[in-house]
This record gives sequence, C-alpha cells and structure tokens, in this order.
Amino acid sequence: MTKKMVEKITNMDEDFAQWYTDVVTKAELVDYSSVRGSMIIRPYGYAIWERIKDALDTQIKETGHENVYMPLLIPESLLQKEKDHIEGFAPEVAWVTHGGDEKLAERLCIRPTSEVLFAEHYKNIIHSYRDLPKLYNQWANVIRWEKTTRPFLRTLEFLWQEGHTCHETEEDAHEETVKMLEVYAEICERLLAIPVVKGRKTEKEKFAGAKYTYTIESLMHDGKALQSGTSHNLGTGFAESFGIEFLNREGKLQPVHQTSWGFTTRIIGAMIMVHGDDKGLVLPPEVAPIQVLIVPIAQHKEGVLDAAYDLHHSLKSSVRIAIDASDKKPGWKFNESEMKGIPLRLEIGPKDIEEKKVVLVRRDTGEKIQVENEKIEAEISRLLKEIQENLYNKALGHRISKTAAAVTMDEFTGNLTKNGGFINAMWCGKQSCEDQIKEQTQATSRCIPFEQEQLSEVCVYCSEPADKMVVWAKAY
Ligand code: AMP
Repeated sequence: MTKKMVEKITNMDEDFAQWYTDVVTKAELVDYSSVRGSMIIRPYGYAIWERIKDALDTQIKETGHENVYMPLLIPESLLQKEKDHIEGFAPEVAWVTHGGDEKLAERLCIRPTSEVLFAEHYKNIIHSYRDLPKLYNQWANVIRWEKTTRPFLRTLEFLWQEGHTCHETEEDAHEETVKMLEVYAEICERLLAIPVVKGRKTEKEKFAGAKYTYTIESLMHDGKALQSGTSHNLGTGFAESFGIEFLNREGKLQPVHQTSWGFTTRIIGAMIMVHGDDKGLVLPPEVAPIQVLIVPIAQHKEGVLDAAYDLHHSLKSSVRIAIDASDKKPGWKFNESEMKGIPLRLEIGPKDIEEKKVVLVRRDTGEKIQVENEKIEAEISRLLKEIQENLYNKALGHRISKTAAAVTMDEFTGNLTKNGGFINAMWCGKQSCEDQIKEQTQATSRCIPFEQEQLSEVCVYCSEPADKMVVWAKAY
C-alpha cells in the first residue's frame, strides 16, 4: 500500500503538468467541481490560504488600510463607464441575464475586479482633501471566464484581495503603488520563500485602464514564469470617467489619483511549483498549517502513545504540531506527511523512549536527526528556520541558474530552448518588437525590472537604440 502511493505521483521532470495535477489532488488541496475551471478548495488547501490571508491582511492593516465589502454584481452601464477597462475585461466577463424566469432590463456582470464599484462609491463619499487618502481593501471572490484553466494558477473563480485607494497627488498614488508591491514581495519572499523580480509591465501587458502596472514575477521549477501579484497606478482615468472630484487645499475641484492592487489564490500554485518534488508538496514552515507531525512507531506497545501525546501537549504552544495516531502503518504515514509537505516529522518509538530521544526528519532534505528530549523544542525551532532559509536559497539558486542575458535573437532563442527560464534582453520600447519576439519564441515580456543593466546599446530584436532591459520568459 505504501509503495503504491509513491508510485502514483508522476515524476516532475517527465511530465510537469501531470505532476502538478497529482500533487494538488493527492495532497488534498483541491477537488474538481462540475463547472469547468472551478475548484473546490479542501480544508488543507484552505488552511494554507488562511495563513497567507492572515499575514497579508495584517500587513494591509499595518499600512493603514481598512477592509470593506462590495457587491458581487455590476450593472453593465457601470462597467461601460471606463473605456479601456471594459475593452480589456469584456472577453472574460460572466453575465447574469435572468432573475428567476424574468429577463433583466439590464445585464449584470459578475465582478472580474471591482474598480468601477469602488469608483461609484468613492464619488459619493469623497468631497474634500480632508477625505483623503481613502485606503480600502476587500477580500472577495471574482470570476474571469478564462479559456484554459489549472487549479490555483488560473481558475474561473478565484479568491483574492483587491486594494483600491484614492489620493490627493500623483506622488502619493505612486508611493502607494510601490508600497503595496513591496508588501507582496515580502509575503512571497519571507512567508512563501519565493524569490521575486520586481518591475514594471510594458504598455501591452499593463492592467486595462491603468496608467502603469508594477508586478512581481517568479520562476517555477520547470523554467516558466508566473505573474505573482500586481499593483496598478490608475492615475486619474477612473476619477475622470466617474467624476470622483474633491476640493483641494486651494479650494479648486480636481480628480483624485487612484491605485488598485491584487493578490490571489494563484500564489499557492506558485508555491507548489517552486518548492515541490517527486514526493509531493514541500511547504515552507512559515506557511505550513502543520509544521511538525508526530508519528508514533510501534504504537501498540505500552507507553508509546502516551509519550507521543505528552510531547504533543508540551510542544503545541510553540509550534503548529499534530499527531497521527491512526491505525495506518508508519510507512504510510511517512509517505502521507511527505506528500502533504509537512516540514518536519517527529518519530518516537519504544527504543527512543528508553534512550530519552526522538528522531526528527526534514522534508526538504530527508535528513534524520536524533535529538535528546530536553533539546527537542530548541531543535525544532532551529530546524524550521533553517528549512525556511534553505527553501528560499534553493529557489533563488534555481532562478539564477535559469536566468541568461541575450544580446542577439540567436542567443535569445538558444538560451530559451536549452534552459527555459528568464532571458534578460534590451528592448527599444516598440510594441511591434514585443509582438514579434512573442510570435517567434512564445516568450512574453514579464517586466522591465527595477534593477536595470545596460546589456547593449540596441534592441535585441530590431537593433535600434534601446535603453530598457526587459525580462522575458514563457509564462503560465
Ligand atoms: P489583475 O487585476 O488583472 O492585475 O490581476 C491581479 C492578479 O490576479 C494577477 O497578478 C494574477 O497574479 C492574478 N490572477 C489573474 N487571473 C487569475 C486567475 N484566473 N486565477 C487566479 N489568479 C489570477
């Protein structure tokens, strides 16, 4: 039985897509529902989301924002008010056309994002500079009618937070856009051990209706990129379309400057694809719902279960710890805890009890460590920190090994074919070059990173003068 469970996971280097599907289902993160592209997030998957949500919510509040809740439905006429926004979102919108049997006089869209709802509300509540800044956030579900879907990474319905803010000046809005991107980067790097590249989207890739979009991009195990969070400076576009005006300090009416920013359940997919291995999920300790699993060995023998429960009792205030006292064989329990990515396994059997020791097994390296009873708590805390750091460093090492600079298109395609990953290359700023690169290589511009290097004087595609380095990659 034990062997069977391991055999069932596809090898990640053989078929990465199938490996991913195996992990999300066998680690009991999701189940498929009867609607294409919609997923059921199971308790273990939801517990991971709750930890991400709690950490991010704390940051959102610490940076001065308040949580609100907006309606799910948006009247078509409201969505039409900002031209670029509706153009960008129209292909992905789901419509409600009937209430019961009755056809509605106006179609209602199920929110794909809530800029227009916030804009309508802000128009009603903002009148003077004294009402600014308005720093709102909502935790919600949204629907985008995606063509291809994959659990967490791209689903029809997903969970997220969306921040929507209004400011007096352009500088304030800019500062907010940067600040929230930094918050996302910190959640990725500190909590999820995912290194990110921060930068600005090109005009082609920016959010529909935004002045500019900042993004964090991460690299998956298979060398593909994932947009992991976005922060938009909306400028005054929505404010002008919706008439969100305030009396400024000089007593003149002017439109507010706005931002919006979103972080979704997609990030769980990123975490799986950055850290996972052929045994299943590997969870960074900071985000793991269970950090240590106690597995009693020969638990039918006298004193074993008691000792295991005593340990559980004494450690549960310092670490997220669980015990598997089910009647499954230890080998089965080991496989299951590995599949679920639990950072540490604690084995305790009759011999350990006699020697006043336990065995700790690391999920990330497989290393077994014997620990004397009085040192268990300190050793667990040390190991959890070490695992967290190791996962981040491993992921960073992987990204560095899969990042190449290209000065010519031959180098670009050569590196991309050989190695996948990120390609850094100079770009002249013309969309036609961006389009051609995508057509020829399937790599899209991920961002214009904040940390720039002048790799050459000319565009990798057209050889005209170029002063921007762009990160390109095939992406999810
Ligand atoms: P946007 O409002 O388009 O900037 O999207 C905000 C964030 O949502 C993006 O940075 C993506 O990481 C994420 N995202 C976009 N579409 C989906 C989807 N279908 N499923 C899950 N996450 C998504």
